[in-house]
Amino acid sequence: MLSEFDIIRKFFSRSPRAGNRVVLGVGDDAALLDVAPGHELVTACDMMLAGRHFFADVDPAALGHKCLAVNLSDLAAMGAVPRWCLLALALPIADEAWVAEFARGFHALADRYGVDLVGGDTTRGPHTACVQILGEVPRGTALRRDGARAGDEVWVSGTLGDAALALAHVQGDVQLDARAAAHCRQRLELPQPRVVLGEALRGIAHSAIDVSDGFAADLGHILERSNVGAEIEFEQLPRSDALIRSAAAYPERVREAILGGGDDYELCFTAPPAQREALADLEQKLGVRLSRVGRVSAQLGLVVRDAAGREIALPKRGFDHFATS
Ligand code: ADP
Ligand code: MG
Repeated sequence: MLSEFDIIRKFFSRSPRAGNRVVLGVGDDAALLDVAPGHELVTACDMMLAGRHFFADVDPAALGHKCLAVNLSDLAAMGAVPRWCLLALALPIADEAWVAEFARGFHALADRYGVDLVGGDTTRGPHTACVQILGEVPRGTALRRDGARAGDEVWVSGTLGDAALALAHVQGDVQLDARAAAHCRQRLELPQPRVVLGEALRGIAHSAIDVSDGFAADLGHILERSNVGAEIEFEQLPRSDALIRSAAAYPERVREAILGGGDDYELCFTAPPAQREALADLEQKLGVRLSRVGRVSAQLGLVVRDAAGREIALPKRGFDHFATS
């Protein structure tokens, strides 16, 4: 059986890469990090619990990936460059093969974005992975929820609803064809945070959020914080081929997945019409689909219209861990 210290040494102590200014990483009581001059430190924390955010029999590499991915997504939504992270891990047993796979998934994603693991905590307990991420943004340039202005256009990256559809499939509520199921499960289990897009949106977008609780709820957060409203054209909301194929059999479910499904980790942002060309260039350069889906207005509230201009009822709210119903 591995000890706590074996686990840390074997799987979570790696030399920091040059360039991230890690003065002291794993091994002391705390890490020392040197923030670049003229920058703000940006930090967020998201945890994942067995039975809540993942199934106990989850693929450990996918879990390692996802617990970091959701945090990277928060930094992307701020337009920040991710640099460092901490990992607090609770394990019911010290299963070496499990931890090795978890660490593989975690480090692979950390390497992709040049993020250093600089500390954490390891304890026995109900299966939990909690990551804190830290990054940098040039002072005053972060993309915030409160920056949307009337006249801005609303944009979404990638496609919406795939992850929610995968969950419905896994739970047996819908039956997707094999190809659609594979695509949607990939989206649910291995979300790709929009880190590069987020950084590129600095100076272009007025506001941004990542779609983790559902498009309507998350756009609602921007509107509330910015004290504005928006009109969205439902038909413009981007969807994958897999989701389009599934829509015939489950029109209601699919509509719900697009507007209210969580876990997509796409970016929703607002930008003035003068930035359309810059966004078209970005779409080409980054190979990320960017869809213009509506407009910000001075009139408070969120209105979603179908192709005939009729108002579509919104899902009541985004995901809420303490909701009673
Ligand atoms: P302390 O008791 O002082 O909190 P620990 O024994 O918990 O120290 O941790 C020793 C070192 O290992 C610290 O630098 C801590 O940040 C790091 N560490 C512990 N668990 C992890 C983990 N899961 N991933 C990365 N670093 C970890
Ligand atoms: Mg500790």
